[in-house]
Amino acid sequence: MEKTPFVTLEQLKEIEKNYPTPYHIYDEKGIRENARRLKQAFSWNKGFKEYFAVKATPNPYIMKILSEEGCGSDCSSYTELLLAKSIGNVGSEIMFSSNTTPPEDFALARKLGAIINLDDITHIDFLEKVAGIPETICCRFNPGGYFELGTDIMDNPGDAKYGMTHEQIFEAFRILMQKGVKHFGIHSFLASNTVTNDYYPELARQLFELAVELKQETGASIEFVNLSGGVGVPYRPGQEPNDIMVIGEGVRRQYERILVPAGMDNVAIFTELGRYMLAPYGHLVTKAIHRKETYKHYIGVDACACNLMRPAMYGAYHHITVMGKDEHGKRVIYDVTGSLCENNDKFAVDRDLPAIDIGDFLVIHDTGAHGFSMGYNYNGKLRSAELLLQEDGSVKMIRRAETPADYFATFDFEGATIKVDAEDK
Ligand SMILES: *Cc1c(COP(=O)(O)O)cnc(C)c1O
Repeated sequence: MEKTPFVTLEQLKEIEKNYPTPYHIYDEKGIRENARRLKQAFSWNKGFKEYFAVKATPNPYIMKILSEEGCGSDCSSYTELLLAKSIGNVGSEIMFSSNTTPPEDFALARKLGAIINLDDITHIDFLEKVAGIPETICCRFNPGGYFELGTDIMDNPGDAKYGMTHEQIFEAFRILMQKGVKHFGIHSFLASNTVTNDYYPELARQLFELAVELKQETGASIEFVNLSGGVGVPYRPGQEPNDIMVIGEGVRRQYERILVPAGMDNVAIFTELGRYMLAPYGHLVTKAIHRKETYKHYIGVDACACNLMRPAMYGAYHHITVMGKDEHGKRVIYDVTGSLCENNDKFAVDRDLPAIDIGDFLVIHDTGAHGFSMGYNYNGKLRSAELLLQEDGSVKMIRRAETPADYFATFDFEGATIKVDAEDK
């Protein structure tokens, strides 16, 4: 499939009057329609709930839109819990799926009544000491080995730090029941950014079989199965996207085959999707500010890896549209670079693009999840603004850009604060 931006060049020129590049912009209409499709795909399950993985796009305006579409919040830290609380998601609207959890995070999760997902068997004692054991709890499972679909190795859970072994989860259930837990869930995250309709159904099969075993051996009341994140998006043009209806139907088949005959037809399905909910509905908008010709053709833009780390960190592909340029006109093989003193600060390497002029807008696609949120301040770079393209076509700023004062806010130097003096402007 071709990738077309959800904003036009005319809109970008209009936006520029109020908001300079670079910025992240999100498409409210796309977010809502996608969230409704997900809900529809799992409407066969009475208790279905998506807990949006806050780390993907930790902005309360975005979280609020999703909560209006019925989504809870999947949090993994103290500040993510506070974000969930700020939009009114408390109690069972929060799934607290963390690992290596600090005591104060557990304490806040308990105080907010979040559903706690235990990453390890030793966390039972830890949680009991710092916050007490709640009546509802979830345990995270790691089957070890490789996660395969057919002959494809999708990921390597045996090498991942998360979750309990098969033996440990049975032991954890027994201990938790003795400590008064009444309602259980199980969770697992076995492969990331899967672009196949078979991931969730296969994960569901493994978790449903485990749920039946756990119930039969421990007598625990298993009330939900959390399929977590991992449903991906096609970052490359031409990649076949997931069909969420087919995925929902695939999970339903396993449910009917495994849980229903075991008398477990009341189990709710939960998801913790991040990327699938947001990635396609965000763009990083940047402008070409330099062209450099040495051993390669370079286009320097006003965004850098601090605004989008995935290409530098994982070599991830993000599609780029040069706005207003004829795709069939003159083309050049470019490296598109940011300004960090780091040679991996490149949004694209050897990318065949329409010839770019200084001042052209470049739209970097699929940055709505794990984009802004992975930002950092290396080289004294500042985080950009986040904008929301609302359903009526108007644009609202949902986070201002950082200023030097934000960067200096956490220290005093010899008693004085560092600030931008009039002469530095
Ligand atoms: C990262 C994460 C998610 C979301 O993953 P996506 O790939 O963005 O869907 C969900 N749950 C947990 C526990 C995670 O760590």
